Amino acid sequence: MKNMANNMQPKTGIYKFREWRGIVDSAYDYAMWCRLWYKLLKWALGHPVQNVKAIFRYRWMFNYLTVPSFFDRNCEGFRGAALRGGRNNFLILTDAVTANLDTILSADMKLHPGSKKAMELNKKIICMDELVPALVTAGFPEAKTVLYQMIPVYLPSLINQHSTTHYITQSELHGLPADVCPLPSFEAGVAIEDDYPEIGCCMITCNMPCDGSIMTSAVQDRRHGLPTHPLNVPLRWLQDEVQEYAIEEILDTIRFIEKHTGMQYDWDKLKEACENWNGEQECKFEKWEFNRTKYPPHTGSSTWMYRIFEHQAVCGDPRALANDKKVNKILAKEVASGKCKKDIRYRAVIWNTPANNYANFNNWALNAWGIDSVIEMIDVHGTALIDTSSRESMLAGLANMVQTATMRAHTKGGYEVMVDDMWRCFDEFKCDFVILFDQISCKGVGAINGLFEESARARGSKICKVRQDLMEPTSISRRDMRADVNTFMSTVLNAEPVDPTLIEFDDDESW
Ligand code: SF4
Repeated sequence: MKNMANNMQPKTGIYKFREWRGIVDSAYDYAMWCRLWYKLLKWALGHPVQNVKAIFRYRWMFNYLTVPSFFDRNCEGFRGAALRGGRNNFLILTDAVTANLDTILSADMKLHPGSKKAMELNKKIICMDELVPALVTAGFPEAKTVLYQMIPVYLPSLINQHSTTHYITQSELHGLPADVCPLPSFEAGVAIEDDYPEIGCCMITCNMPCDGSIMTSAVQDRRHGLPTHPLNVPLRWLQDEVQEYAIEEILDTIRFIEKHTGMQYDWDKLKEACENWNGEQECKFEKWEFNRTKYPPHTGSSTWMYRIFEHQAVCGDPRALANDKKVNKILAKEVASGKCKKDIRYRAVIWNTPANNYANFNNWALNAWGIDSVIEMIDVHGTALIDTSSRESMLAGLANMVQTATMRAHTKGGYEVMVDDMWRCFDEFKCDFVILFDQISCKGVGAINGLFEESARARGSKICKVRQDLMEPTSISRRDMRADVNTFMSTVLNAEPVDPTLIEFDDDESW
């Protein structure tokens, strides 16, 4: 759609009318939008009283009311396979999140004080830090695993840029330093406000991704008071010497869960889930292959968000594998046709942790400047397949998967994994430049900023630095991020925008 910003209401960025993508794609998009509403309404009417109570009890619940707009933003400008892949990914995400919300809210003792039914359900719920992939608990098929911060913290930070502000303020009012990364600060703020649901029979914490996470685990522990087991994950995950320790940590975690749930770990179920996960991984490898061609079909925010979700939450889930196979068929068809439905002028690798408060940044870059983010750091981690031939080999595979979890794989492990891997992606995906997120609160990555620049100079490659603060829009806004790209494109590349209306507009009040 041309002049896209003219279709947005001033400041909120909300569309005045649905995007026109031609007859076929507009009809497809509208049908998928209706399917999304059907799923949301089905969920809302499943437990109407409980859901309304949750909206009044938890500030973060409000953000879920804006989900249809969020999915629209993250598919903006898409046509053909990109649109179909993105919409299908989002529907799977909706299924998994609404099922998870049902479990959490049905078990929540704050919503159901004294309820015997809720107490019974809680005996089966294993709470786990959102950075630990849920595949670890696949051997407990009778249990329900809840990634503790995913629903109250991580997803709201993507859905509504303002969701973080109140909770981060609470953390700072209680003495946490203001230069802590917004993710752990947000998590701590939710604990301080007593806004985590009261659920579960035990808790698995971890030292991932960084020191901020260790700090926030301690704050959360004081609030939930569950029997807790810290899963310690080695920092130098490339080294063979740490692998024995990493495996022992997984085994300790399994023993701890067995003790608190009274359930036995089922290794056959783990094997089944690992095989599904290997299938999901193979589909991902195929997607990367597609993106290495001249017709990269699967890029943008619907891609990286789905990858995070798949790696952490629906790893080993047969429904996710079925979706991947379906999406790959659609993508393969478009690549084989030799037609690209996007106006691609530049290919870029996006590196460093994404800006949750501007989840659709990729869509903007493509629509405004024709920059297609053919690969990005958050999409390319944890690439090893799990050998399912024995318990030992599965444990080694699980330990590797945990060590290379979202964000952790690159921000820890030494500068090689962060810097060298970036240039590997740059070359393999035939990129024109790097968009390097300068995440001002991520001190580990901040420490090696000079190495990025030095290596770019040595290679003669270009880097466009974009400031961001992960999920804190009050320090660096979406407009500030766009301004960094605009400056680079107009001064370094002398480029002309694809859509001039998208260069400067005000969406500070947008969700
Ligand atoms: S962005 Fe950096 S500082 Fe923030 S949670 Fe991730 S690794 Fe830690």
